[in-house]
Amino acid sequence: MHTLTYDLFPPESPQTSEDEPWTKHNCVFDDVFWSDVVERMWHAAEKNTVALQSHMMIVPDASMYVPFQKAWAKHAYSLNRPCVMPRMMTLLDWAKSAGASDIDMQHTERVLNWMGQLRNTQQLAEWLGVLEEVHLFDVARALIDMSDELSLQLLAGQNLADGEAALLTAVETVFERHAGVFAQQELSILLQCWRADVSAGAEQLSPVLKFLETLQQFVRHPPVKQVWVVRNRPWARFETWFWQAYAQASQVHLLDVTQVRARVDDARLQQLHTAWLESIRISSADTPIPQGTAKIVQAESLEDEAQAVTQQVLAWRAQGLQKIALVALDRQVSRRVWALLARCGVSIRDDTGWLLATARAASSWRAGLTLWQGEVLAVELLDWLSHPMVLGMLPASHKSLLIRHVQHLAMAQPVLARDWQAWLNLASSQSVRADLQIQAENLQMDLRQSTIDVFGKALNIQASWRRTFSLSQWAVNITKWSYDFGLYQGWTIDPAGQVWLQLLEKWRCATVKAPLDLSTFLRIADSEVEASTFRPHDVSDDVLLLPLGSTRMRHFDAVWLMGADANNLPGVSNNVGLLNMAVRLQLGLPTHLEQQEQAKNDLIDVFATTPHVVASFCGTQDSAPNAISAWLAQWLRAGQMTLSSANLTVEHVKADLHPRSQVSIEAHVPVEVSASDLECLAACPYQFYVQQVLKTRRQRLPSDDILPSDKGNLWHKIIAAFHQQRDVNNSTYDVELLQNIVRRYLEPLCAHNARYWAVLELFLDYANPYVAWWHAREAEGWQVKSSEAWIELAQEVHANGERKPLLWKGKIDQIDQRETLEPLTAQVKRDTAVIDYKTGSLSNYTRQIRDNNDVQLAFYLNLFSAEERATLSQAGYVGVSTEPVQTCKSKAHGGDNDYPQAWLNPEQNAPDNQAIQTAAQQLHQQVDDAFMRMYAGEALQAMGELTTCQRCHARGVCRKGYTVLF
Ligand code: SF4
Repeated sequence: MHTLTYDLFPPESPQTSEDEPWTKHNCVFDDVFWSDVVERMWHAAEKNTVALQSHMMIVPDASMYVPFQKAWAKHAYSLNRPCVMPRMMTLLDWAKSAGASDIDMQHTERVLNWMGQLRNTQQLAEWLGVLEEVHLFDVARALIDMSDELSLQLLAGQNLADGEAALLTAVETVFERHAGVFAQQELSILLQCWRADVSAGAEQLSPVLKFLETLQQFVRHPPVKQVWVVRNRPWARFETWFWQAYAQASQVHLLDVTQVRARVDDARLQQLHTAWLESIRISSADTPIPQGTAKIVQAESLEDEAQAVTQQVLAWRAQGLQKIALVALDRQVSRRVWALLARCGVSIRDDTGWLLATARAASSWRAGLTLWQGEVLAVELLDWLSHPMVLGMLPASHKSLLIRHVQHLAMAQPVLARDWQAWLNLASSQSVRADLQIQAENLQMDLRQSTIDVFGKALNIQASWRRTFSLSQWAVNITKWSYDFGLYQGWTIDPAGQVWLQLLEKWRCATVKAPLDLSTFLRIADSEVEASTFRPHDVSDDVLLLPLGSTRMRHFDAVWLMGADANNLPGVSNNVGLLNMAVRLQLGLPTHLEQQEQAKNDLIDVFATTPHVVASFCGTQDSAPNAISAWLAQWLRAGQMTLSSANLTVEHVKADLHPRSQVSIEAHVPVEVSASDLECLAACPYQFYVQQVLKTRRQRLPSDDILPSDKGNLWHKIIAAFHQQRDVNNSTYDVELLQNIVRRYLEPLCAHNARYWAVLELFLDYANPYVAWWHAREAEGWQVKSSEAWIELAQEVHANGERKPLLWKGKIDQIDQRETLEPLTAQVKRDTAVIDYKTGSLSNYTRQIRDNNDVQLAFYLNLFSAEERATLSQAGYVGVSTEPVQTCKSKAHGGDNDYPQAWLNPEQNAPDNQAIQTAAQQLHQQVDDAFMRMYAGEALQAMGELTTCQRCHARGVCRKGYTVLF
């Protein structure tokens, strides 16, 4: 057993800041900072270029290499002789050069080992929350993260026993009063795991421990005698201990950057000081850069934000600004900006450390392997085949034909194909469509055979992958699979693909023999690529995409902070389980408060040192209002010289776009209209044109997905059958009858599509509450007059002095009637009600009714003649529920029981039907106006939003904005 004692620091090590063992230089970061550092080093080396080689510079960030190198180049030029600059590294790189591994690196084998241990210690696994095999992986990963953090923070300068004691004390103190017993139990598990992880054999030493061991060696045998350390943020605990120990035997010069010199004018500086107390460390500029700008931009949507960034970057470049940084606070908008700038020919150097998982190469294997892991449904299969890296061995024209043929097969499948065998059968039994066959012959391609080959290969692979394999064997399998499906070639020429190939190579050499099935392997691969960064370095760094922290101690001409809303600035906390904030504070572990403090300092530095600064955020996110970062709101208030002002001056983006598509249809105005047509017209006029004039329809691939409309139609039919079959004089068996009808309708569907079983169960649960609601209604005297009735009414529109026909038509789910005797006149009064059944939530309909913009009910009311409409006293939507119906106080539009209802007239039993008449007349007028405008040639414009666009098959061809004029 390999044991380590991390007693880096002899007892006589100085512990207090008054007795610091290094030479400390209090520095200001400004334009001359690096030349100043070079001067100091040059004098410390007594102007001797050979002696200079015994010096080394340790920096917090590798990006400092460039200004340091430039400062030395200038110095050598003034000396007029060659001068080799001293080495410059980060502490991690220094340790890695001495044999340590990257502490951020994931160690798959460690995870596998922990999974094995947890499997063998069932009690421990249960304590840690492993209920099923699939949880093992996540728990093992969490254990390793926890162990690494504790090791890095607690073992520097202490042995394991000291670390454990410190943890024990912290937990006892924090949980003294609350839940102490549980905390103790959790702690003992945590300690047990940490001990086991730290005490692993030397050959399995974790990267963190190897890193600490390397630091220990440095302290014992200092490899460099003169070290210069730049400190621009508070040190982590292990850094403090290391430098204190190292300074015992070597000379350490600490360049402590405590001040930053502004480069902007006094007005901006004044605003900074007013906004943020922390800006006290910013001193005035020597020579401020004139004509700077600092503004906050609010965009309506992510796309607008990305457009605004792109246009500004192009404008900055046109003005000759050299160093432009885009701070990526939000991943989505950053990715979009990258794509837009790439389209304009601007290359970006990505320093954000985005995860390999988000790269195109990752989706090529991820989406593919998922097909071998689960079902092979048409949509997913076609998506994968269309990936640019898949079937790379085929010329593009051949691949395109093959995909179109598979598309044709997908449309022709008599029974839904769900596995490779079914696809192979389909490809063997179906012939190639004539037009595709002609194109294939022109290309001298046997299209049918090529498709059979692809599915045949897939089937063979599936058969051989049913077994379990070791990690190294999986790496071999995946490599072979990538050859078979033409992915390998794409990976080799793609930078992210190359990183993925390196991972495969690493796994190929893994020694762990634990058997893994495909899904476990996929989870491991997912987790590994999630933890691997991917940064292509093959482009210039004129425009940098980087995290906020990487702007530290760097000067830019212009910076744009993207996604600067309250969620991203500052970010969220990372407290997990027992290591919560209180325990972290006790132990001296980093907390999210420190990270936030650092982020705020970085933000202040950006505003103080960058002439042109813009921060942007979206005013809405997922249709909900999105708040600006509180820090930036403070900045805005400070600009108005009053902290209490709520009038923030926010600039709204006006994107420079091609106009959206629009078309005049005066010669092709439809002569029929339905409620759904009107809803479509209201949601997006261009979509109305596409659907009602061009008559295009989305071609749906066969699928066993059950759409909400499928469910709705079924429920309508079932309710209609129920009312036709029930005995109105005997309601005893109504529930039984309704449930029998549900079974009669649903069971044949279940036989073809298993997903209908869930619908069957749901509908059975709906039966009791629905019948109770109907009985309450029946007690009020209502009877069903008709169900699912088609009604048409010929109308006319007066346009351009002519009368144009317009047929109103619709299917009304249910029309009820009741007759009551007027007590005074002894006349029979007849009331009519219109009901539309809905199986989804009614909240949208209630809102539309309250906002006076309901379309569907008002349309149905217009299908009645004037005489019939006079008898209408109710019109509403009725939902579904699985809850027993309770009588409640009558609520406006909601009825007098808690069954979901939304009535057009506020009091559903109102004697007059004023609300109904008004809604009907208003809609009639609106329809007349809309059709008159169409006849008059008014253009129908693409102006849909959110879900309307998501479901629209004209998406992407309607040019709804977002095509920039560059
Ligand atoms: S995508 Fe949106 S804007 Fe374009 S036609 Fe469809 S609904 Fe209208």
